[in-house]
Amino acid sequence: MIKIAVIGAGPAGMMAAITAAKAGAKVTVFERNDIAGKKLLLTGNGKCNFTNVDIHADYYSFQEDSFADDILNELTYRDVCDVFMEMGVLSVERKGGLYPFTGQAKTVVNALVRAMERLGVTLLTGSCVNSITKQNNCFMVHTDKENTEFDRVILACGGKAAPKTGSDGFGYRLARGFGHTVSRTYPALVQLIADNPNLKNVAGVRCYANASAWINGEKVVSDYGELQLTEYGLSGIPVFHLSRYLSKAVEEKENCIVKVDFVPQIRSDALEGYVLEQQKVLSGCSFKAFLEGMVHDKLADYFLKIKKQESAFLSSEEDARKLICLLKEMKAWEFVITGHKGFENAQVTKGGVLLDEIDENMQSKLTQGLYFAGEMVDVDAECGGYNLHWAWASGKKAGEEAAK
Ligand SMILES: Cc1cc2nc3c(=O)[nH]c(=O)nc-3n(C[C@H](O)[C@H](O)[C@H](O)COP(=O)(O)OP(=O)(O)OC[C@H]3O[C@@H](n4cnc5c(N)ncnc54)[C@H](O)[C@@H]3O)c2cc1C
Repeated sequence: MIKIAVIGAGPAGMMAAITAAKAGAKVTVFERNDIAGKKLLLTGNGKCNFTNVDIHADYYSFQEDSFADDILNELTYRDVCDVFMEMGVLSVERKGGLYPFTGQAKTVVNALVRAMERLGVTLLTGSCVNSITKQNNCFMVHTDKENTEFDRVILACGGKAAPKTGSDGFGYRLARGFGHTVSRTYPALVQLIADNPNLKNVAGVRCYANASAWINGEKVVSDYGELQLTEYGLSGIPVFHLSRYLSKAVEEKENCIVKVDFVPQIRSDALEGYVLEQQKVLSGCSFKAFLEGMVHDKLADYFLKIKKQESAFLSSEEDARKLICLLKEMKAWEFVITGHKGFENAQVTKGGVLLDEIDENMQSKLTQGLYFAGEMVDVDAECGGYNLHWAWASGKKAGEEAAK
């Protein structure tokens, strides 16, 4: 019977362990935390957005022409739901994202742990793997407590994001021990810090907006969704999306700007016509009342104050033109980005073990019998269940192949 060590009981490691055990291997999972799936418990605001109906390479960053695309497509979102269904977990779809029907991430974690138990997987919690060595055809896995021999090893230690959950980048050291190269890592899906003294006036605003990222004058990406303004800068799903491009750029001292359209419901070319038309209907109303139905009141108050139009009324076409100017500014507020909120606050890691050095079976090209799974490798994705889909897909592949 092939003896496999899985390092890390995150989603990738647990999926690898379950798959390998189903294929007949004797599997031991080492987890430094006292529980399995500590990060998984936090996902999707505790609801666990575990995959998406639209799995496609466009939502991911990985080296072009790499095998990652094939691995992602080998496991469809329906397969993921079926795997959980087999474990007794029902799923529900919301805006394309799949969640456990219970709305509780712990349902997923408990199901994975019970599946491992049923399949005879040994889960060693509180067991940090300090190093791994290979002699002849055997791997020796060293923890503070013991040294154990295995035929194959699957590294599923996660990246560096949210280090309090156990993945603090130590896994990269284990990979480097076998000669692997780790590309520079950056926090992704993270809040952005902006240099704007006016933010304190609008901190706390949560509203739907369109945000676009500009690097050295070029628009690189944009996203629409619920954005949050904070004392330090910008947060929310569209900002997380932009951070996948900006955290690297800002660290490399590129010129980074986020432009926010706080009135995305009305196109720029339709704005003038809309206000002039409404002026006829709402003639005589205050600017504040006019804006009330269009933008968050804190934003309206702030813009009216800086434009000294707090007590302005919409009585003439000239007034309407002033309002149009103000709305145009609200449609293109620029924030100079000076930093990000670091790995402590990030959801994923950009960068990791180079795919070049791994084959299409998630096996190391440098050391036979060594496999990788999950966020450790140089693959990251947008919000929406895509990162967990990679964890399941790569974990399944590594587990299947390691057990052969
Ligand atoms: C707040 C938050 C919310 C998120 N929400 C979502 C979401 O809704 N949908 C989504 O798709 N993605 C989400 N993500 C991202 C997703 O959680 C990760 O991409 C995913 O957990 C990566 O899985 P993994 O198994 O590769 O690594 P991890 O989940 O990081 O697991 C790695 C495990 O390895 C252990 N480990 C590390 N080194 C050692 C060692 N030397 N010895 C023993 N054990 C070790 C760690 O303790 C850890 O338990 C979220 C992330 C965060 C932080």
